[in-house]
Amino acid sequence: MDKYYINNRQQDNGDYEVHKTGCTYFPREDYTYLGEFYTCLGAVQEAKRRFPYRHRINGCYYCSNACHTS
Ligand SMILES: [Zn+2]
Repeated sequence: MDKYYINNRQQDNGDYEVHKTGCTYFPREDYTYLGEFYTCLGAVQEAKRRFPYRHRINGCYYCSNACHTS
């Protein structure tokens, strides 16, 4: 399993991106640990559960491409 995190700073397009440990684009500061998951799908689901007011949560294109939608 991989450790996943959400960037607490919005991207320019309004998305909050979910990353896993080791990603080149992992946020340097201001992120929240989500937990360990087998795939990014579980991580994104957990992020949506914990941050229901964040309407745009998306997987990182580079480390969580299967969950990248925008
Ligand atoms: Zn990433």
